[in-house]
Amino acid sequence: MKKHYSIILIILFTLPLWNGCDLNKKEIPNLADIRAQIKEYHKSGKYDSDLNRIFNRVNLEFSKITSKENSLVVFDIDETTLSNYQFGLDYDFGYNEQIWDEWVRQKKAVAIKQTKDFYDMIISKGYKVAFITGRNTNHYIDTKENLIKEGFTVFDTLITRRMDDLKSSAVTYKSNERNKLVEKGYEIVATIGDQYSDILGTNHGMQVKLPNYQYIVN
Ligand SMILES: [Mg+2]
Repeated sequence: MKKHYSIILIILFTLPLWNGCDLNKKEIPNLADIRAQIKEYHKSGKYDSDLNRIFNRVNLEFSKITSKENSLVVFDIDETTLSNYQFGLDYDFGYNEQIWDEWVRQKKAVAIKQTKDFYDMIISKGYKVAFITGRNTNHYIDTKENLIKEGFTVFDTLITRRMDDLKSSAVTYKSNERNKLVEKGYEIVATIGDQYSDILGTNHGMQVKLPNYQYIVN
């Protein structure tokens, strides 16, 4: 009789365990695995080779056209022009506004080499440059100084997001800002960003999407 009780107890405690650990069930990704994959993506050189492949294609497209006086290329900043990968590493890919503000204030973001090479090329060919960033107006001065420190010294405008305009989507904000530039007389030849929200909408010209597996901005 005692043995029977033991068997029943084992079954009762085992069933929920197996229900929760169904080996055939597809599990959602584990955050620790994703962090490791992102680190490996950067460390292995795959991130660089993806950027090289993208910019080789963009350079080819630009070799087919010539700049006019009002030809403009629009760049996003974070993970497009400047890399915050070290910020990701420092905070284990976590985020809150306080640590982000401090990071921006320190101006420690570094130029993404492939973007910098492309930027140098288009500047030498007479294209104008505009930066449109989701960073807010409080970050304007630090962002400008960080860009200049990293060699992005020539640009027509740096557009940061007004604090009272934080409710609209990134697509709407960036698209509206591009529309204003067109209204001023620019012709946007290309828009480059690491988010789809950087390059969708209106007046984008050639759309160049760079890789970013750390976060999504909608
Ligand atoms: Mg970005």
